[in-house]
Amino acid sequence: MRVVIVGNGPGGIELAKNLSREFDVTIVERENLPHYSRPMLSHYIAGFLPEEKLFPYSLDWYEKNGINLLLGAEAKLIDRLRKVLVTDKGEVPYDALVIAAGARAREPSIPGREHILTLRTLEDAKLIKERLEDEGEVTILGGGFIALELAGNLAKAGYTVRVVHRGEALLGLDRELSERIREELEGAGVEFHLKSQAISADEDGLNTETGYIPGKLKVCAFGIVPNRELAVKSGIHAGRGILVDDHLRTSARDVYAIGDCAELGGIIGGTAKTAVEQAKVLARILAGEEASYVPFRSAFFKFADFSVAVIGQIRGRGEWLDEKARVFYDGERAIGAVVLGDLRKALRLEKIIREGLP
Ligand code: FAD
Repeated sequence: MRVVIVGNGPGGIELAKNLSREFDVTIVERENLPHYSRPMLSHYIAGFLPEEKLFPYSLDWYEKNGINLLLGAEAKLIDRLRKVLVTDKGEVPYDALVIAAGARAREPSIPGREHILTLRTLEDAKLIKERLEDEGEVTILGGGFIALELAGNLAKAGYTVRVVHRGEALLGLDRELSERIREELEGAGVEFHLKSQAISADEDGLNTETGYIPGKLKVCAFGIVPNRELAVKSGIHAGRGILVDDHLRTSARDVYAIGDCAELGGIIGGTAKTAVEQAKVLARILAGEEASYVPFRSAFFKFADFSVAVIGQIRGRGEWLDEKARVFYDGERAIGAVVLGDLRKALRLEKIIREGLP
């Protein structure tokens, strides 16, 4: 069976690794680079990691593992009748096609947005790094995990870092948890401007509802836009992302989607962890096993030296288990947790919560 995967991110590569022994696997990737780690980009920008360490697999590794890698090739259309993926470098026939095309960074929609950078690719990271080394300071827009990871690492590296967030809550958490994370990051040197919506930008700074923040380098890190265009052009159903069922099937026969481009039950995964979990399930399905993907939110982050795990559903009644873990309950059943600064505990709680699900 020929499995063709669009995208060489964590979803695409995990699937290829799981299938390449049994099947003829091809990855089509528009960037001209082997797989690299997006979660480590802010560590690279901060100077904690040399560029080569972002690449866990060499080109030789792909060859040795029997994975055909078509780099610098953009998938343009899925010809579903002929079962062929049309790329700008030629056609690739498939028996099963998997769209693992990820997402791009959401652009700010304010006047002067050309003065604001975004962070998604290594190229973006290189530009931010170069500008940061000149400026020595940065203003980051956003209160989600990408913004906080970047802020924490850059503050730890000694840069002046301001975070501008239109809301009050970080990571969408409740006030108490959000304040704990803010305090940790403030301790690392991050300056927060919360409840502060950006209105416009110019070369020298950012105009917000609560005043002008000077600083030439501005990075927008709030949210993602799933890459659904290939699917839409090919007549495949999409909402915010490419719509899939719990077998990760799209509306087209033998076409699947995983990772940041896929939408299941109204939810876009948005993390490498989800992309990898979906890839593992899809590998089993394509190998003929009985498997389905059960959405379960679980994400582990590191902001400077401070780890944060967000597990399961984090709404409703929350109680502190101790000073590091807040557990959320539905009746007597634990349905979610937020764990601060203790990865081991996070892993234990993740297991308990996952196993306790109906
Ligand atoms: P992607 O990694 O986006 O890969 C998709 C690939 O498809 C891309 O290489 C793209 O070039 C290619 N592609 C797209 N369209 C086409 C086309 N038409 N033809 C050919 N190729 C195409 N997640 C975590 O779990 N933990 C973290 O700590 C974390 N930190 C992050 C920090 C940063 C700075 C960023 C940007 C992201 C972070 N994430 C983190 C999120 C994580 O990186 C993504 O959720 C993950 O990369 C999604 O994997 P994916 O395989 O779905 O897509």
